[in-house]
Amino acid sequence: MSLRLLHEGKSKRVYVKNGVLVLEFKDEVTAGDGARRDLVPGKGVVNARISAHLFSILENAGIETHFIEYDGCRSIVVKKLDMLPLEVVVRNYAYGSLLKRLPLFKPMQRLEPPIVELHYKDDALHDPLVTEDDVLRAGIVTRQKLGEMKKLALEVNDVLSRYLAGKGLVLVDMKLEFGLDPEGRVLLADEITGDTMRILTRDGRHLDKEVYRRGGSPQQLLETYLELAEKLGLKVPLDDLRC
Ligand code: C5P
Repeated sequence: MSLRLLHEGKSKRVYVKNGVLVLEFKDEVTAGDGARRDLVPGKGVVNARISAHLFSILENAGIETHFIEYDGCRSIVVKKLDMLPLEVVVRNYAYGSLLKRLPLFKPMQRLEPPIVELHYKDDALHDPLVTEDDVLRAGIVTRQKLGEMKKLALEVNDVLSRYLAGKGLVLVDMKLEFGLDPEGRVLLADEITGDTMRILTRDGRHLDKEVYRRGGSPQQLLETYLELAEKLGLKVPLDDLRC
């Protein structure tokens, strides 16, 4: 079965395979807009496994996503969608760029209902925060699809927040991406991992990329992601990290 490389991003390679896509999770990690970059051998495997698991949790909760199957190593097979060039950030607690942008919020202040932000996905522009009017008037998405996307983002957040709470974890915030299927339906796409969420243990430890953003080593990041996987009930034997 032939694989054709379609795109290579910072954390994944995207291949086309007989009408579906294969997302291969790389071992690289970057932070600070690409200023820091490291190889974390095994990260791709853990992240593919976590992503596959969380997509399955969502599917079981009745939320349709692009996920089709996990290859058991570092790739997931997904539906080919017409991707919207947006990053949708859902925030349950004030953290990160929200605090920098608007210091009126207190760190970790509960945001109920959650705040939903739209960012235009463009590395050269540093994924700027955009308004709903911007997105509509630029023709990125219709008003109806924008409404569907925001509703879906909140549902995804609700299901994952509850699921993680059941594992003793707090979902602080996360970044989601969406695409349109051939019928024009909005589906959740991309990945759901410690690279794209902030997750705290009950005693306030990060089980996410914040460990690396704050200067942690590649090995510390791998151990953090392995702990996250373990908390989700996923076994990742060390031999599997080299698959
Ligand atoms: O940095 P900021 O506070 O805006 O991040 C909000 C959430 O979105 C965090 O969970 C972060 O990991 C995620 N994010 C991401 N990709 C980006 C920007 C943020 O996954 N390009």
